[in-house]
Amino acid sequence: MKAIGVLTSGGDAPGMNAAIRAVVRSAIYYGYKVYGIEKGYKGLLDEEIVEMDLSSVGDIIQRGGTILKSSRSEEFKTEQGREKAVEILEKYGIENLVVIGGDGSFHGANLLSKLGVSTIGIPGTIDNDLAYTDYTIGFDTAVNTILDAISKIRDTSSSHDRVNIVEVMGRNCGDLALYAGLAGGAESIVVPEIEIKTEEIVKRFRTTQKRGKKHSIIVLAEGATGIKGGARELKDALAEEDNADVRITVLGHVQRGGAPSSADRVLASKLGNKAVELIIEGKSARAVGVKDNKVIEMDIEEALSLKKEFDEEIYEMAKVLSI
Ligand code: ADP
Repeated sequence: MKAIGVLTSGGDAPGMNAAIRAVVRSAIYYGYKVYGIEKGYKGLLDEEIVEMDLSSVGDIIQRGGTILKSSRSEEFKTEQGREKAVEILEKYGIENLVVIGGDGSFHGANLLSKLGVSTIGIPGTIDNDLAYTDYTIGFDTAVNTILDAISKIRDTSSSHDRVNIVEVMGRNCGDLALYAGLAGGAESIVVPEIEIKTEEIVKRFRTTQKRGKKHSIIVLAEGATGIKGGARELKDALAEEDNADVRITVLGHVQRGGAPSSADRVLASKLGNKAVELIIEGKSARAVGVKDNKVIEMDIEEALSLKKEFDEEIYEMAKVLSI
């Protein structure tokens, strides 16, 4: 019986469990044996491999995190490490490997495919930083988590006429800040892709104050380059303004957790199932994703070579709506 291996790698994301479930259930349905590889490529090299049956993925569709656990592996980045990985996979008869993770994990999967293992990548990261797919698994849940926090902050911010700076994740990609900021009605959204200086935010603050807005929410992506000193610099500059009582909330790892949203569960289910379909078709080194609401697949190397484009139209619209 042919075997499929599945692992989660890199930063975890809500919905990874739903993807694991979809891979395991689809694979067993089509007559494959399935192995779960724990702790990503590290667990592969340490041979932390367990066979998975239908019930091993029962009761996990609603759970955040990943039951297979995730980690990072320096050893796997070396040629010798990857050769060792291939030997271990061969030992278990694992000819196909499904990798759920971000771009780093996809790079690893691509290199492994060149050593003869057929690999399929499923995008699992809250950052939404993979260009070939409209959405990655975990992004929608993370946006909703941030939105929930913004709404709560907005209540207290409004009671006290405060300015609140909410720092969100997103080192190179501003999608989390953009979507949560838009949905949360933030007065300013600061992203890595568009350089804004502190003075500009202060100016914007003055304009909205003049218009009578007493409180204000600024969503700041952690990787915003225009403001070198981050939330602190912004806070200090705004605190100079009349009547400005400024607070910072750094959301941190709460953004990574929580029960996956329905959108993430549906996306994970579709992509997990598609990955197994591609294996049945004998395909390798492919990345699955979603474009214009349709499930797509693409060469993994090509997928990695595409440059993520920031949606400036939505960004400009958010600005218009927050005057
Ligand atoms: P993510 O997949 O979320 O982007 P990382 O970038 O940390 O997370 O990648 C996860 C793991 O994938 C790394 O620890 C490493 O084992 C493997 N990996 C990342 N980049 C490469 C690469 N260029 N070559 C081989 N393996 C890689």
